[in-house]
Amino acid sequence: MNILLVSAEVEPYAKSGGLADVCSTLPREWQRLGQNPIIVMPKYGFINVDKWGFKPTGITLIVPMGYWTEFAHLWEGTLPNSDVPVYLIEHNLYFDRPGIYGNPQEYSDNNRRFIFLARATFEVAKALDFTPDIIHAHDFHTAFAMAFLKSFYRWEHRFSRTAGVYTIHNLAYQGRYEPHSTMEYSSFGLKEFYPGSWFEYYGSVNFMKVGIMFADKITTVSPTYAREIRYPYYGEGLNDVLNHRAADLIGVLNGVYYDEWNPETDKFIHKTYNRDNLHIKEEVKKQFLYENGLTESDNLDKPLIGMVTRLAEQKGVDLVRYILENYLSVGEFRFALLGSGEKHYEDYFNYIKWKYPKDAIIHIGYSNMVSHKLIAAADFFLMPSRFEPCGLTQMYSMKYGTIPIVRQTGGLADTVFEYNQATGEGNGFNFFQYNADDMAWAIRRAFSIYNNQPHWDIIRQNAMSMDFSSSKTALEYLKVFTWALEKV
Ligand code: ADP
Repeated sequence: MNILLVSAEVEPYAKSGGLADVCSTLPREWQRLGQNPIIVMPKYGFINVDKWGFKPTGITLIVPMGYWTEFAHLWEGTLPNSDVPVYLIEHNLYFDRPGIYGNPQEYSDNNRRFIFLARATFEVAKALDFTPDIIHAHDFHTAFAMAFLKSFYRWEHRFSRTAGVYTIHNLAYQGRYEPHSTMEYSSFGLKEFYPGSWFEYYGSVNFMKVGIMFADKITTVSPTYAREIRYPYYGEGLNDVLNHRAADLIGVLNGVYYDEWNPETDKFIHKTYNRDNLHIKEEVKKQFLYENGLTESDNLDKPLIGMVTRLAEQKGVDLVRYILENYLSVGEFRFALLGSGEKHYEDYFNYIKWKYPKDAIIHIGYSNMVSHKLIAAADFFLMPSRFEPCGLTQMYSMKYGTIPIVRQTGGLADTVFEYNQATGEGNGFNFFQYNADDMAWAIRRAFSIYNNQPHWDIIRQNAMSMDFSSSKTALEYLKVFTWALEKV
């Protein structure tokens, strides 16, 4: 299958969250499975083309926008550790900026930038003489590709049998924009914008709705999230639209790229280990604590709870804020956080770091290296998300024998199962109500098995033997692609 994947984020070039991981992992796996994927994304100002080996193709893309035409250059390279071709669209006015979406405020022309990206995607395929079976668009940024496929490009021979698949990584970010300019940039014009049209939602153009309505198949990143978003609590206002397309809405659990997230081969951690020599994990933990300024006299055996997260309301940071000091003030556990995001949360954690220098290890910022070290070092990994489309870090943690404590929602509900001391089954701890006391009770249950044998080894073995491999995910997507092609 010829698969054209278009995304605003692809790891390692541009990443703000799980979207980027998935958009580089899937094409790698598809290629291993004998498929023919290519990736299209913007050439952002911060991408180091020399470091990643990108070269100009010499191709100039001619991209229709509105009633005019714009031009872009095309660069090519390959995804590290694979032969997957990656094409960068160079349009400096739109993309030569320090941020993906903003820095820190959202760019005011994101509607125009991303409509351009979606439209240019088709011109890339034409310029490369690539005939896609599937165009796979991700999140609101590339949603308009689904509309373009079914309109302006429907009658071009190259795309006449192409199916559109749209993947929702997070329904909360929908891309709602003012209709006059947005409809003009899209070339559909205001005539297509009327109450109830596929572009309109409560007076705005809603990119997410566009993707949902025009795609042949819609996927989201876990089966539970696919069910949840059909109800108002999780539907972010689009539950009716999703119910309308329910027959084509499929949950495919994200997978882990174990080539990168594996304690047996991890280059970032102090020592590698596996399920048969878990005592080395203790050394990894100690080394992490030393690196963060602690010494032998600081009771290094206390349970260490870790978090690696965007600091956003979605992630349940408020629940943590509600109870954290109760624990830290009595020195019951040590807390390690790597995160960045909303300023009030960053301020709060900086305060915690100042007040509990021995028991709170706080890294405000973004670091792949620290994320590996922290996930390997922690005993428990906390994810009390209010909603979680899939979540990757709980799956990474399990591979490292780091026990997840999660709220039972979305992908967390599909991957973390409460440990049962009677049967020795389960790989973590969970709670259902979005409530700090319920979270505290789950933490309490988790502590009850900490260093308590045989449970402590059993649960870690259980977690480490879970297989969330991205090759499974890639196969699931191929099935979805087949179904999408049947619709064309
Ligand atoms: P989301 O996409 O909602 O942010 P996911 O759990 O699906 O959540 O994916 C988050 C990804 O981003 C993971 O790969 C995680 O390791 C990474 N990540 C999040 N915050 C940071 C950070 N501050 N530093 C390094 N990596 C981070």
